[in-house]
Formats: sequence, structure tokens, C-alpha cells
Amino acid sequence: MTASIDSETLKQYLADDPPSIVNLAIKPHFEALSDKEKFYAHHLSVACFTGSRIVLRQVSPESEPIYDFIVALHEHIAGDYAKAAKDAGISQDDVDAYLNYAAQFLGNMGNYKSFGDSKFVPRIEPSKLKALAQLSSATQRLYEQFENAIYAGNDIAKLHLGYPSAGHVSTYYPESPDITKEDISGVSDFLEGKRLLPENTRIRQTKEGFEVLIASATKHPWAAERDLEESEWTLPDGKKVKLVFGDHNKEMNFIASHIGEAKLYAANDTQVKMTEEYAKSFLTGSLEAYKESQRQWIKDKGPAVESDIGFVETYRDPHGIRGEWEGFVAMVNKERTEAFSKLVEAAPKLIPLLPWKAEFEKDTFLSPDFTSLEVLTFAGSGIPAGINIPNYDDIRQNIGFKNVSLGNVLSAKAPNEKVPFIKDKDVDVYQKYRDPAFEVQVGLHELLGHGCGKLLQETAPGEYNFDIKNPPISPISGKPITTYYKPGQTWGSVFGPLAASYEECRAECVAMALGCDFSILQLFGFGDGKEDINGEPGDVLYSAYLQMARAGIAALEFWDPKSRKWGQAHSQARFTILRTFLNAGVEFCELEWKDDDLSDLTIRLERDRILDLGRSAVEEYLQKLHIYKSTADYDAGKKMYEELSNVEPFYENKVRPAVLQNKQPRKVFVQANTVIENDKVVLKEYEPSAAGMIQSYVEREWL
Ligand SMILES: [Zn+2]
Repeated sequence: MTASIDSETLKQYLADDPPSIVNLAIKPHFEALSDKEKFYAHHLSVACFTGSRIVLRQVSPESEPIYDFIVALHEHIAGDYAKAAKDAGISQDDVDAYLNYAAQFLGNMGNYKSFGDSKFVPRIEPSKLKALAQLSSATQRLYEQFENAIYAGNDIAKLHLGYPSAGHVSTYYPESPDITKEDISGVSDFLEGKRLLPENTRIRQTKEGFEVLIASATKHPWAAERDLEESEWTLPDGKKVKLVFGDHNKEMNFIASHIGEAKLYAANDTQVKMTEEYAKSFLTGSLEAYKESQRQWIKDKGPAVESDIGFVETYRDPHGIRGEWEGFVAMVNKERTEAFSKLVEAAPKLIPLLPWKAEFEKDTFLSPDFTSLEVLTFAGSGIPAGINIPNYDDIRQNIGFKNVSLGNVLSAKAPNEKVPFIKDKDVDVYQKYRDPAFEVQVGLHELLGHGCGKLLQETAPGEYNFDIKNPPISPISGKPITTYYKPGQTWGSVFGPLAASYEECRAECVAMALGCDFSILQLFGFGDGKEDINGEPGDVLYSAYLQMARAGIAALEFWDPKSRKWGQAHSQARFTILRTFLNAGVEFCELEWKDDDLSDLTIRLERDRILDLGRSAVEEYLQKLHIYKSTADYDAGKKMYEELSNVEPFYENKVRPAVLQNKQPRKVFVQANTVIENDKVVLKEYEPSAAGMIQSYVEREWL
């Protein structure tokens, strides 16, 4: 027995009290679909959600019975939790603590946080939960399967997902407590050598060696249907490796059949081919078929109903190669897409407004792929704000990928959500315009920000994509540039680990600079293109600057004082932009507070100085970011960026604690269902509450 966990440590593992429960609003976008599109969306949604049970199995052994318990209890008491409390002889507070846990559990599809991979445990006392369980024999039976696993226990390592050999939990290696990291590497590397892809697999240790469980509806696919004809090998050390098909077979079968139904409502041949390959993959376990579905998916450009489904992201496998089930169905936001395409059309006029000459810019602007979607269904352990898939490098390089932002995820807000760091006088304008401001920001960031700029290169020995005899003049030094990319060098290879955050920062600054242009605000429907800092377009611009400053403060949550490192590329970028605002001087921006602990910290940002002081500070920073990138000047870029990212004692010891204190629980989303009524597909929405969340799952009765 290990020593029990002290109560202070335990606190960080308690469920959110209460969690922030919000609706994933979709109605107008769903209603705008044709009947046929609605059927396509419906069958794909069913397929996505069916995999939620796979997600549960991928989190922890107890997640599946806990899920079944939450649903069974709700059905037994017909959603009347007040009555349940009375019948079980517990208080309303007890039952609320249970409901808070249930909502967070469903929002993470398991009892470990999808963001952070640590366990969360109910605040309801064990004896009270037991009393609830005793309300029916079904709940009692389920309760017995998890009663020893739902709470924190005595072993802190078990409160985190990770390699079993390090004492952590991972059901990617089910019933294999003794499997070592070396075992996992050995089998994984062996199969990689055989060119078997790992995303839809799990590994189980047996007496003879290892079973590689492959998700498929069929337990015995024909050799010709499989990615490998052989299915059993003996490793040099004598251990056996055996492929075992049919993992999650019930779910995979149901998923494949609904994919087949969706195919009947496909909008084009590409969707037909895509759904065929999906079905083939889910029936037989072939990931080569899955890769073909992804090639088709990329070709399906700008569909009314967008969807991707399968074993996608590998964050949660401690070994980092096995995928979690994920599926989404979404609608293209037509208005936003139109504003974005106007922005792309206007790019040749807008890019020259940026603080560098044409020599540092591409000859012709190529807009990156970017769409804004509204999510109907997202099955998985959590909902991201954007997606960039597929992850297969060969497909990304040869065919491409899709880059989407999920509009209704980004804009979802809990009722009465606090807005820390914004002054009372600004709250009304900020709350009214932060979403439109963010939309402008995202469009400029993605399309023009990541889209603009040229890397000055020696493309082959002695060949240059700029005039080497008469090199461009750096606007920073006023002298001809002396650095550039050598043959074989790329942006990523020169800037290394700095590249991701630095590029996000460059894109954010492009958006902050161009957002000051009133003709751009007009493209998004604000004003007539004339300068109007005190009118509505000015409200949008002011909100954009406040939002960036606030994000720069909130970013400190993602800076780790132990390693003194930034854990998140965008957060680091936003912190440096906040510092840039502050460096522009107190005439423009300042942090203000009265209380010693900074609990009343607010941002003062002068609206009528955005166009002169704010914009020029951003442009000066952006110019350096851009020119250093363009000219492969890693040393200068690193020095500047690390200086601005440095978290000084004031930010570490004063601001960061205030940020953590104001931190809101992570949102969990209540999603709608689609049902077929009188030959039509109808949307069913639920209340943004724990009971509403549970009800939405109860009605996914196939799950
Ligand atoms: Zn970006």
C-alpha cells in the first residue's frame, strides 16, 4: 500500500463545481440544409456518436460502466433528480454534486480530463453515491463494477494517463499491467517494419507474447481485405505477435452500416468513394482503406455537410501512435465563408499595406485552405476550436489537408460568464463585439497572416529567388540583407522549436495591423470603409485590441513555472503582443489594480490611440518578425522573441496567480441529436444543464 494522498493534493482532482455547461448552438445552420443533406448529416452523426463507447474504452477500465450508470439512473428516475434525492435519502447538494460529475464525465467522455489527462473524481461522498446506486438493480450492478475505481484511491500515479510501467493508466494496453515501454516499442517497431499502421490498434500482453487488437466489424477478414496477408509472427526473443481482428466489433459494425446509409445521400461521387472507403476500413480494419477515404475527403472541397471520422489524434496513447476515436459533422458557415472569400479577393490590395516592400512578398498571393464550420456533432473526448487533418504526412505533402475553425465552439459562452480583466465601462461594448472582432481576427490571421510573406532562398547552389547582386534593403537596418535560406534549409529547420509560436505571432500581428483598416471592417459588414473609431467599426476594432490584451494576460495559465516554458504556441504569441502594447507606453495601454493580490486587475487601453500608437507598435514588431523570418535571421528573431516571451517576476508572482484565481472551468458542450420523424430529419436540442446533457445521451439509445 502506498501512503494515502493528502487532502490538499486531492483537491485538484475534484470535479468542477459546477462545470461550465453550454449549448453547441447549430439550429439555423442545420435548418438551412436540404432534406437530402440532413439525411447525410444524420447518418454520419449516428456513426460518430456510436464510437463514443470506443472512446470510453480508450480512457479507463471504469469509464464504460460509469457511462452506463449515468444513463441507467437517469432512465430509472425519468430525469427527476429531486425525487431521486428524496428516495435515496440524500440532500439536494449531494445530488447536485453527482450531476456536476456526470456532466463533466460526459463532456470528457470518460473520467480523465481530455485537456490534461488527469483524473477527476466526484465530490459526492461514497456512501451517498451508493445510496443513489441502490435505487435500482441495474444501477446497483453497474455501481459494483466501478465503486473501487471512481474515487482517487491511494496511488497518485493512477490519477494520470500514461505508460502502465510507470504506474499510470492506459487502456491502449488493456489487461496488461506488466507490459513495459520496451515491450510496446518492440511490438510497435516490428509492425512498423511490416508497414502495418497503428492508429486503430491496442496491444494486450499474453502468456505467449502480444495480441495486437485491431478495430473492425469482422473478426476474420479475408487475407485479401487485410493490409497484411500474414497475421502471426515470432519475434527474435521467441515471443509471439498475433493480430486479433474484431476489437470494438459491435460498434464498428454499426458505424459501417450508418456510413453505408449516409452514402445513399452523398452529394457527389467523391463523397460516394469516401464513404465506401470508410465502410471498408471499419468493416475490415484496413487503414490503407482509411487513408484512401482521407484522400477523397480532401478532394471534397467546401461541401455543405463536412465530416471526418476515424481513429485520428494520438495524444492520449502514451506511446503517441494509437488514435482516439473522433468524428464530427459540421455545416459550412455561408456568411462567414463569403466574408473570407472577399478577403482573399482583396488580398493583392491589402498585403501592400503591411510594413515591408514587395521584395519580401510572394509574386502572387496563394490563399491557404481555410473554412469556418459550425459543428452539429463532435464525438470524442473533447471538442477542439480548430482542426488541421489528416495527420498522414504523405497525404499532406502530395494531396493536401483541410484547415478548419469551429465557429460555434469558439463563440459558445456560459450564461453569466465572467469577463475578468475588462473594465466595467468596457464590458458592454466588449460583450457585444468580441465575437465579430474575433471573426475578423481569425479571417485575417488564417488567410492573410499565414498566407503572406516570402522566404529569401538560395534555391539551388548559385541560384536565388531574389537578386543576389542587388539584395533587398532591410527596412529594419536600412542596409542590404546578408542572410537567407541556404539550399535544403526550410523555415522549420532554421527556426526549429521556436517556429510554431513565432509564426502564430506573425499571423496574429498581421491581423492586429490590418484590423485597423476600415475597408477591411467594411468587408465584414461594419461601417462604410471610412475611418470611424467612435462608431460601430471602431467598437469592433477596440474589442479586438482588448481581446488580444486579455488573451495575453490569460496566456500565463499556459506558462509552466517549473520548467519556465510556454506550453502553448498561441499563448506565448499573445503574451508577447500584450507586452508590445504595454511597451507602446502608458498613453496607449497599462495594467491597473488597487489590491495587492491583483484580484482587481484590469486593462486600460485607449481607444483613440489605437490608430496611431497601437498600430505603429504592432507594425514595428511585425516588421521585425517578418523580415527575420524572410531572411532566415534566426539569431535576431530568437533574441527578440525570447526577450518578449520572458515571464518576469511581476508576471510570474503577481499576474499569474490572479489569472489562475479567475480561471473558469473548462466548458462542456451539450450537443443536439438528429432523429427521423415522418420521413424527415429533425433536430432535437437540450437544455444547457447537467440533466439536459444526460438526456441527450439517453436519447442516443444505440450508443
Ligand atoms: Zn495560426
